[in-house]
Amino acid sequence: MKVLELILSGGYYFSIAAIGFIILFFVVAGVNGDVRAHTRIMMNRTALIALFGCLAEMVSTIASNLDEVPVLTKTILFSANMSLMFLCSMYFDRYTFAYLFKDEDTEERGRKFIYTNSMIVVAFHVVLLGNFFYPIIFWYDDMGVHQGPLYILMGYVAPAFYLVIGLLGIYLQRKKLLRREFHALLSIHIIVLLGAFLQAILNDAVLLVSYAIAVGLYIVNSFLESKDYHMLVETNIMLEDAEHRANEANRSKSAFLSSMSHEIRTPMNAVLGLNEMTRMTLTDDAQSERERIEKSLEYSESIKSAGEALLYVINDILDISKIESGKLDVVTAPYHMKTLLEELNSVFSYQAEGKGLMYICHIDGDLPGYVEGDKLRVRQVITNVINNAIKYTNTGTVSLDVAGVVKGDEVRYDISVTDTGIGIKPESLPHLFDAFTRVDDSETHYIEGTGLGLTIVKRLLKLMGGDVEVESTYGKGSVFTIHLPQKILSGEKISEYSKEQDKAKEKAETFSAEGFRILVVDDNAMNRAVAKNFLEKMHAAVETASSGPEGLEMIRGKHYDVVLLDHMMPDMGGDEVLHIIRQHPEEFVANAETPIIALTANAQTGLREKYINEYGFTDYMAKPFRYQDMVALLRAYLK
Ligand code: ADP
Repeated sequence: MKVLELILSGGYYFSIAAIGFIILFFVVAGVNGDVRAHTRIMMNRTALIALFGCLAEMVSTIASNLDEVPVLTKTILFSANMSLMFLCSMYFDRYTFAYLFKDEDTEERGRKFIYTNSMIVVAFHVVLLGNFFYPIIFWYDDMGVHQGPLYILMGYVAPAFYLVIGLLGIYLQRKKLLRREFHALLSIHIIVLLGAFLQAILNDAVLLVSYAIAVGLYIVNSFLESKDYHMLVETNIMLEDAEHRANEANRSKSAFLSSMSHEIRTPMNAVLGLNEMTRMTLTDDAQSERERIEKSLEYSESIKSAGEALLYVINDILDISKIESGKLDVVTAPYHMKTLLEELNSVFSYQAEGKGLMYICHIDGDLPGYVEGDKLRVRQVITNVINNAIKYTNTGTVSLDVAGVVKGDEVRYDISVTDTGIGIKPESLPHLFDAFTRVDDSETHYIEGTGLGLTIVKRLLKLMGGDVEVESTYGKGSVFTIHLPQKILSGEKISEYSKEQDKAKEKAETFSAEGFRILVVDDNAMNRAVAKNFLEKMHAAVETASSGPEGLEMIRGKHYDVVLLDHMMPDMGGDEVLHIIRQHPEEFVANAETPIIALTANAQTGLREKYINEYGFTDYMAKPFRYQDMVALLRAYLK
């Protein structure tokens, strides 16, 4: 009865309201129940402690006014009240700090904070317990409660300490907080500090602290911890991230385009300039016939290498776009590793010598030599790495070492390319294989490159089940190691192969197409001329047609041993020509067995399978092709 009277006497209205607010807090929190944000969880914990704190405060003050309650019980209740209020402000501080350092890796900082904090919490409770024996904070007697010398320190200053630290943190980190976070956190700190201040000067006559805490909690709950606000923040983070990535992509696209246009313009400029010079030389009457021919040949050699450089850049772009769109297939076929390595050695020893470098190659001859894989792509990978080694080395040596391990029916070649070149800074190593990235360095600034080579190496190796590693010392040199798994096809070792290979080489040089009639159908006069020249060099009888219908007429009338048919022609494409031939075999009996080979510059979608399976061509050859390509192709069909 007396308790009820006391409650209704008016002194506890604020405490009752506080409890009401906190219960309301949990109701609203329940509505937002599935928000699992870190701050939300911390807020719930703070609210739970605040609820116990409010209850303890109310029970303890009621008990203080009842003579029947023993002094020890009153002391315990008041101590619990003090402890809970202290813990409540501590938790509130941690909650605030979760916002202040949300973007940072706070683990270390958090550990330090918890360590220091635990010391303060322990010290506080040691003093609170000591108060039972040496009452220096408060004590009870028949007259009621008495304040000791540490009362203000323990009851007000200690909890306020956390709030002041929180306030300081909010001020110092204000730039990092969103407006809404700043205002909500600031107002709750001010409200609670104000409540504590008023309660202290009113000498505990009105219990304002718990009320202020409850109101503060409620504010934060509605402003910062609601479900829609969390969703908004998440969406904003996603948008910022997307914007950042879009800007980054745009930046590398621009950088790529500018480096690419430079890479294309340089050889293009050489081609056009040298061509101009050839023309001038040929019409220069002051020079002798012999001089003119020699100079023209020299220019033509340079045009060839500029053209090849251009082709290299274009192929890189096509490759990367094919890899990125998942259109690049690894086409496996049997090949001899030794042949591949010898081809590479002959190209690179020449190239290295030209730059005054020593080129050394060491192959473990016991490794399996006859394997299955995509020789073209393997060559491309090794070429890119050796090319770089030569490109980024000014003096010394470039060496190629081939080692490996055999596991079951697979060999893993470990192909290392070591150079004594400019090396790579440790901070650049992680970005080496990123697309369109070139190491930004005064050393490499003047060396031409697109930044695609190593990206292609990495991606191709991934497609083939391999990998690449790099070790480098800046200023001293680099080692790139390619790990390449290939299927073993026979017991033949690398060292056992050379004779056969030599024979094959001999055959390539002496290939003759004499006695065979070949038709070239191409609308482009220049391309027709190139094909005709190559074929005539092989002593074939060559006929040409400049359009689809013209070609069709010729195929209808006469037998050819091979037809080379351009795919892209204005009035009738190669695929249409082929379609007509296949639809009306009776009209083309003379060429029923003739291999019809597609010529195409469409390397992007021009996969061999597509031309053969979809269009029905016998084979395909990508433009531009070299003499050796033509020989290799015709050898397969002219028997
Ligand atoms: P590119 O050579 O066309 O710039 P890459 O992708 O082949 O592009 O190489 C990326 C970067 O890695 C180069 O710009 C260069 O700075 C660095 N790099 C590659 N290989 C070497 C090497 N052997 N020595 C020093 N730096 C290298």
